[in-house]
Amino acid sequence: MTPKITRFLAEQNPATPCLVVDLDKVEQNYHALQAALPQAEIYYAMKANPAPAIIRRLYELGSFFDVASLGEIRSCLKNGIPVERLSFGNTVKSISAVQEAWRLGVRLYAFDSAEELEKLAQHAPGAQVYCRIRVINDGADWPLSRKFGTDTGQAIKLLREAPRKGLNPVGVSFHVGSQQKSVTAYQMAIGQAAQIFQTLAADSIKLDFLNLGGGFPTHYHDAVPTPETFGATITATMKELFRDNPPRLLIEPGRSMVGNAGIVCSEVVLASQRDEQGLEPRWVYLDIGRFGGLAETEGEAIRYCFQTPHDDTTAGLTPHVLAGPTCDSADVMYEKTPVMLPQELKSGDKIAILSTGAYVASYCSTGFNGFAPLDEYYL
Ligand SMILES: *Cc1c(COP(=O)(O)O)cnc(C)c1O
Repeated sequence: MTPKITRFLAEQNPATPCLVVDLDKVEQNYHALQAALPQAEIYYAMKANPAPAIIRRLYELGSFFDVASLGEIRSCLKNGIPVERLSFGNTVKSISAVQEAWRLGVRLYAFDSAEELEKLAQHAPGAQVYCRIRVINDGADWPLSRKFGTDTGQAIKLLREAPRKGLNPVGVSFHVGSQQKSVTAYQMAIGQAAQIFQTLAADSIKLDFLNLGGGFPTHYHDAVPTPETFGATITATMKELFRDNPPRLLIEPGRSMVGNAGIVCSEVVLASQRDEQGLEPRWVYLDIGRFGGLAETEGEAIRYCFQTPHDDTTAGLTPHVLAGPTCDSADVMYEKTPVMLPQELKSGDKIAILSTGAYVASYCSTGFNGFAPLDEYYL
């Protein structure tokens, strides 16, 4: 919770649930990533939080943008971001989206399959293309690799074919999985990518960049390695594998750019001891849940931290099941591993959910079960 957010909540007492983001913290995160990897160009992954206030601030700082859909492209253009700053990083694009992106001037596209490459050749002729490879996501709380990426052999084959199709093969990308806490994951993935660069160099295809994707963690419960730690390991690995001839480096941070810049202010709707004997954990129902934006609690994968008015309690903390307000039984955030909360917590208490700047507003449903979507404030 930054001083700016604390002051805003005290002075404005906004209706809950709401997300409050401190843009200065986003700026700090940008500078920290840039300082940790000064040789890298930063492409902010918009899906983490697409708020215009965030993308405008990042643009002013010099950021580029990883976009996944026409909607994100149009939003960037509407907010004054030059089209040259965009990379269409989704490897699964509809034909109409490619046609329109090309018409709007987007020149850089990701792919991970022969069919997508062909689509780009037809509808974005002459485009710069980069191939996403599948890498191990061990160490990530929110893995992404089952859905995207091809293997090294096929990447080499497709990048070789690209010039014959009139496309310009410019790079390789991967994603080590989101909330990745292991620097080793980047080392191994860079090793895999380096093989592709070497094989293609032997064919006189010189790729221009390596795109390390996102994955850098934000702080929830457990300590995570700092940007400097990731930066130092990545820099050393690049030096070791590419010597004096490194490609340009791109990174696509999402979570690490905005996660710790925002908090959700929520209210306890009900605190309930559901068994007569009081042996089971109490249930606390908040006015935000799985459908109100806390989608990453699926499988209890991302574990948020909470602040309550009773944190200086003497009665101590007890295990609680935490659930959302809707009449859907999937709307339970933490049950397998309960959350330690004060026994005094009761209906009407305000509760802050920390580090919710990433993947909360963007996951919020438009009003499931009649509950209004999250209000958002960018300070
Ligand atoms: C989601 C996504 C990112 C951002 O990942 P984080 O783990 O939030 O940093 C980056 N690149 C691509 C292609 C993505 O889909």
